[in-house]
Amino acid sequence: MTSLSVIVPVKDEEGSLPQLYKELSSTLKKISAPYEIIFIDDGSEDKSGKILSELKKKDTRIKIITFRGNFGKSAALSAGFEKAKYSTIVTLDADLQDDPHEIVRLLKKLSQGYDLVGGWRKNRIDPLSKKISSFFFNKGTVFISGVKLHDFNCGLKVFNKTVADSLHLHGELHRFLPILAAKMRFKVAEIEVIHRPRRFGKSKFGFERSWRGMIDLLTTIFITDYATKPAHFFGRIGFILFLSGICMDGYVTYLKITTGSTQDKIPLLLAGILFTLLGVQLISTGLIAEMLAHYLLHNDPAIKKYKK
Ligand code: UDP
Ligand code: MG
Repeated sequence: MTSLSVIVPVKDEEGSLPQLYKELSSTLKKISAPYEIIFIDDGSEDKSGKILSELKKKDTRIKIITFRGNFGKSAALSAGFEKAKYSTIVTLDADLQDDPHEIVRLLKKLSQGYDLVGGWRKNRIDPLSKKISSFFFNKGTVFISGVKLHDFNCGLKVFNKTVADSLHLHGELHRFLPILAAKMRFKVAEIEVIHRPRRFGKSKFGFERSWRGMIDLLTTIFITDYATKPAHFFGRIGFILFLSGICMDGYVTYLKITTGSTQDKIPLLLAGILFTLLGVQLISTGLIAEMLAHYLLHNDPAIKKYKK
């Protein structure tokens, strides 16, 4: 029988919280499994903190983690994962854009043998700029990561606790939870969910943040595909550059020996030197990274997380 730890990151959501609690607890009661609701107050400056402690007084299944300041949604979720005591994790935004009733369908899908099931906001109700940036973000993410989902960043997700235990979310990596999970060979799926407009407060993630997503995607690929073999990444580019540089300068040297003149080949010579040096630098960076990885993996139980 499943038991649920519901994790809700909260930053200035005073308008939504009472209604959210109502909808969430009515759904959870219907599921009739043991559950807890962990709210993470991520440095709210409105009345969210006060509303949460009022709710906690009425309901012993509520737990609250209060941050000293705003550390971001990833940090909030991580804190929630750490506190969660049940076998299935449910994450949900606090702004009522995710419909708590959808948890039932997500859990049903999870029980069909998946480790993580995310929501796909097919009819997303957000400003156009956000929908466009999100469209490119999701397409780009599929292209680069090879993980074929439509919506990576839906707040509504359900997954096994082992998934949470195997991941470290820092920075803004919450967006890539499905990729991190898929790269750890967990079985990942998504289903369409209802998305609702934000009625209270305002969004904390605007268009201006979308470029960061691309950098974070690189980080994600790095810490999943290359964390244990960084020299493969740096080495590949380094070798290509190094060999091209050697060829360029070898050619110039050959011309010098055979024709005696390399007057118009100076740019090629310089490019060759640049490529060779860059190549050597990248290869050495890869080797240094490899030493670090060797040391860290030896001391960190990360590798044990591969076990079923
Ligand atoms: N959130 C948070 N810390 C932050 C930013 C957001 O805990 O620094 C929470 C926020 O309260 C909400 C969820 O993360 O519950 C999603 O945020 P938001 O609705 O602003 O994002 P959007 O839906 O616009 O992408
Ligand atoms: Mg929202």
